[in-house]
Amino acid sequence: MSRREELAERLGQVQSKISRSDVTLIVVTKTYPASDVEILHELGVRNFGENRSEEGVEKSAVVDATWHFQGGIQSRKLRDIASWADVIHSLDNAGHISKLATAAEKNVDVFLQISLDGDPSRGGLLEADLPALAEQVMATANLTLLGLMCVPPVSADPRKAFTEISHIHRRFISRYPGATSLSAGMSGDYEIAMDCGATHIRVGSSILGSRAPRE
Ligand SMILES: *Cc1c(COP(=O)(O)O)cnc(C)c1O
Repeated sequence: MSRREELAERLGQVQSKISRSDVTLIVVTKTYPASDVEILHELGVRNFGENRSEEGVEKSAVVDATWHFQGGIQSRKLRDIASWADVIHSLDNAGHISKLATAAEKNVDVFLQISLDGDPSRGGLLEADLPALAEQVMATANLTLLGLMCVPPVSADPRKAFTEISHIHRRFISRYPGATSLSAGMSGDYEIAMDCGATHIRVGSSILGSRAPRE
């Protein structure tokens, strides 16, 4: 089977499981080459995700698409990230928002990342800390608040975790009515995330194949 046939088949399998028309499938191409991005673009994919700025710079130059960043943010990389990313999913720090206010030369759509357990190694804010950052994003002219993003704790039961997230999101929307998007769900759990209201799913290995561990 050619790479094109393989990608077409796996993409079709994921697309066939998308249960609502308001769900955006982001194909996470991290660690995979730009040639895969070109094939996926020919197959109709218009939303791609990356975790590292270097890869985003390189691959976003190859196709016309909406580019998403969902990796851990290093402050010194923010200007770089804002040069190619149309959407940042992993914002969880007031300093990073201030930096984007001056570093970004175009509009950037953002999600605030929430954490269910406060584990600092996985990023994200506790619910109580959301309003301060939401206010800051809304006061920043070049940032648009889309909603919330979450990666559940590794040990969590996905359905319980996504249900809790959807409740946090509902409370968030009642305060910030424009923030209707929910970025949740990866290869292992995107169907459950959609059941619980995800509007953006971020799927990598189910389409591209399992990644070799990095570093
Ligand atoms: C890598 C990554 C994904 C995609 O993960 P898969 O399990 O390969 O689908 C989604 N979201 C985040 C934050 C990631 O780091």
